[in-house]
Amino acid sequence: MIVMKFGGTSVEDSAAIERVAEIVRSRAAEDPVVVVSAMARVTDQLLAAGKAAADGDRDRALELAAALRQRHLSAASELLPGTHFFNLQPALESNFKLLQDLLSGVATLHELSPRSTDCLLSFGELLSSDIVSAAFAVRGLASARVDSRECLLTDASYTKATPLFDETATRLQARLRPLLAQHLVPVMGGFIGATVEGVPTTIGRGGSDYSASIFGAALNAERIEIWTDVPGMMTTDPNLCPEARLIEEISFEEAAELASFGAKVLHPATLLPAIEKSIPVLVLNSRDAAGLGTCIRAHVPGNHHPVRAIAAKRHTTIVNVAGERGEIPRGFLREVLAVFDRHQCQVDIVASSQVRITLAVESDTAGPQLLADLERFAQVTCEPRQAIVSVVGENLRGRQGIAASIFGSVAAAGVNVRMISQGASEINVSFVIREDDVPAAVRRLHHDLFSDGEVASYVSTDEPTVEVNAHGAKI
Ligand code: ASP
Ligand code: MG
Repeated sequence: MIVMKFGGTSVEDSAAIERVAEIVRSRAAEDPVVVVSAMARVTDQLLAAGKAAADGDRDRALELAAALRQRHLSAASELLPGTHFFNLQPALESNFKLLQDLLSGVATLHELSPRSTDCLLSFGELLSSDIVSAAFAVRGLASARVDSRECLLTDASYTKATPLFDETATRLQARLRPLLAQHLVPVMGGFIGATVEGVPTTIGRGGSDYSASIFGAALNAERIEIWTDVPGMMTTDPNLCPEARLIEEISFEEAAELASFGAKVLHPATLLPAIEKSIPVLVLNSRDAAGLGTCIRAHVPGNHHPVRAIAAKRHTTIVNVAGERGEIPRGFLREVLAVFDRHQCQVDIVASSQVRITLAVESDTAGPQLLADLERFAQVTCEPRQAIVSVVGENLRGRQGIAASIFGSVAAAGVNVRMISQGASEINVSFVIREDDVPAAVRRLHHDLFSDGEVASYVSTDEPTVEVNAHGAKI
């Protein structure tokens, strides 16, 4: 049994859904369970309609709902010949009626609570899963639309509900096993679930990947396929560096490092349920079904290459915090970090000396209030328009000469390094440079680190690092 998840662009119109049917058909022998997102941009449009209604603009809200109705009905009519369309139409129309009623209610009350928001957003995935399931049936793929609100049980933290894993696994098994036994393809909406009492919830924007991972783990899938509109994960941003290549295999830890340092990849936290059960996750391109894609797994057997990928995170600000008398008093670091924490500002890199602490943070989160709070007890200066470049690879562990090589490349690109971090995670060397220097630094690094033949110049220390606990004992 496998789980196949198709994102919004993979189901955005009838042509895209045709491709999905072909792809699923090619895997029919493996008992696929299909998870779909809402059609591209639908979740945003539902939110916009909800906002218009909450602002009291009922006409605008209903206009947006009418446009959504039109788009879904035309996709359905293009996909489903005659009677098949008429068979599905009542189910779609009843959802549009519910949507209209909900928006009218919101407009009357001038209030859109998180709970109503989730009810509103659930229409996107309910509609797309209905249409995709019907499209499969007329293409010789016997399918069954399964309402995810009956299977994915969550707590009541609306708009970012936490799944109840055990209850979900029990419900899913009970609901899907009989369908799979009859060789039906279950089609479910991602992102949406319900509380135990049956109130609709959502598990956070972009949550369909998370749904796929939860379903895959609950059903002990052989693998999970995440179908998107890119070839897979790349060695660096191809817009930045034309030499970027597809990563065929990557470990979960590497993918997590890349995501936290700005790579626009599938967020690995969403894959955790699958990875914990050692279920491989493939990222594939629904526009190029024959492409290799990227396989994310718990452990990737070593290859000789020290580096898996290079990520760059722009919009970074360096904040320098100095003690008022030219030295750092006791407890200073704690006090400084507490201020960042209070303002929910994530600190990406920290360096400290006797006289000051330097922190690299996301520019948007280091607001004037945070800086004012620091200035109550410290001297503060900022350096905006910086970027963090991260070189990531499990084979960086214990690799002699790699740091020299990385910084040699950056120097050769004529770029100055402002901060360095290595060691916190042994699989990542990160440094801060000016934002404008990112293209030059990344291109040069990618060229030097990925052009074949370069690799042999690194010496590998075969001895693993020994970690000891605070008492000096090996761990
Ligand atoms: N439709 C939802 C969203 O746009 C969930 C998803 O696409 O993953 O956030
Ligand atoms: Mg998505």
